[in-house]
Amino acid sequence: MRAIVDHDRCEGHGRCYAVAPDLFDLDDEGYTVVHEITVPAQWHEEAREAASACPRAAIRLVD
Ligand code: SF4
Repeated sequence: MRAIVDHDRCEGHGRCYAVAPDLFDLDDEGYTVVHEITVPAQWHEEAREAASACPRAAIRLVD
């Protein structure tokens, strides 16, 4: 699975980090610094929760 963040949509709520801190680092203003990552199998559920938690629907998951 890959997680892809649309930075045109991201508004820096930081909820992705709150749900999945192993996957989504934030910058000083609360925006995730992640653009695209490969999600290890053990963190797929975290990635799904982060995508659901993002209020801007900025995280897309691709198998
Ligand atoms: S939860 Fe969504 S809007 Fe907030 S920092 Fe993460 S990707 Fe951006």
